[in-house]
Amino acid sequence: MNNDLTNKETAHKDIATPNRTKEILKKYGFNFKKSLGQNFLIDTNVLRNIVDAANLDETSGAIEIGPGIGALTEQLAKRVDQVVAFEIDQRLLPVLKDTLSPYDNVQIIHSDVLKADINEAIKAHFKDGQDLMVVANLPYYVTTPILMKLLELKLPIRGIVVMIQAEVAERIAAKPGTKDYGSLSIAAQYYAEAEKVLTVPASVFVPQPRVDSAVLRLTIRQKPAVEVIDEQYFFKVFHASFANRRKTILNNLVHNLASKSQKAEIEQALAEADIDPKRRGETLSIEEFAKLSDSLYKILQP
Ligand code: SAM
Repeated sequence: MNNDLTNKETAHKDIATPNRTKEILKKYGFNFKKSLGQNFLIDTNVLRNIVDAANLDETSGAIEIGPGIGALTEQLAKRVDQVVAFEIDQRLLPVLKDTLSPYDNVQIIHSDVLKADINEAIKAHFKDGQDLMVVANLPYYVTTPILMKLLELKLPIRGIVVMIQAEVAERIAAKPGTKDYGSLSIAAQYYAEAEKVLTVPASVFVPQPRVDSAVLRLTIRQKPAVEVIDEQYFFKVFHASFANRRKTILNNLVHNLASKSQKAEIEQALAEADIDPKRRGETLSIEEFAKLSDSLYKILQP
């Protein structure tokens, strides 16, 4: 029996169909590792929607995290100039070599993306000034650290389109005054405009995840949403403000940013920023947090 997936007939069938995926998994005796967030996409329509949301063309470059058996990688390779994908699981390397053999514009980097030098990879594999997007079906156990790394590195990318847990997508894209709005919304929206573009049923994955999924698009801002004296301090201020959602902003700041002895200074900073000390963190806009951070910085930092 000819079981070679690179033969002409099978090579041009999409990877992301239930049958082809089953065939590939069987050929390699592949067992999913739950600890690596392995839920593979088996629906080419969903994949095309993800790629469409990234607005790529044949001059673009795509950076993928966790190619799995290559379902999304293949759709990207068909659409863009170059794909670079980071995969942590060594067992997938021979599989990807096989499934992606029809495409000569894909580079797989065997690495934990959280440890990888992404800037170096961009320099090595893409052209200077090339239009770049991160496009991925992320491993859910590390969604937030991966997204924060991508944003904090200030990479030369236009944006990020990712499949993540629906609940996290809602938190990231949330507006002030809503139940989902919190420090993750501010951290992401400081760097990027965030929008949830699609919700997806669990049935488009094998194995099916227990949570609902959604596609999130982050469009990187030319400059951060607000200007602050000290970026790290600004992050500390809004994290402290959400430490206990039932507490007022004053109490959260007293307990989580400064100390009881500095209550008067915190009240003064809130007054200077024109913020009622009885308000709760989730009612403050990113602009108000910026103003508050600068007042606190001037009063509390020696
Ligand atoms: N892109 C494939 C798809 O859509 O079918 C697979 C997506 S699956 C949700 C996540 C992938 O990320 C898996 O292949 C997993 O091995 C890989 N992965 C998990 N943790 C990783 C990490 N820290 N760095 C790089 N890849 C990782």
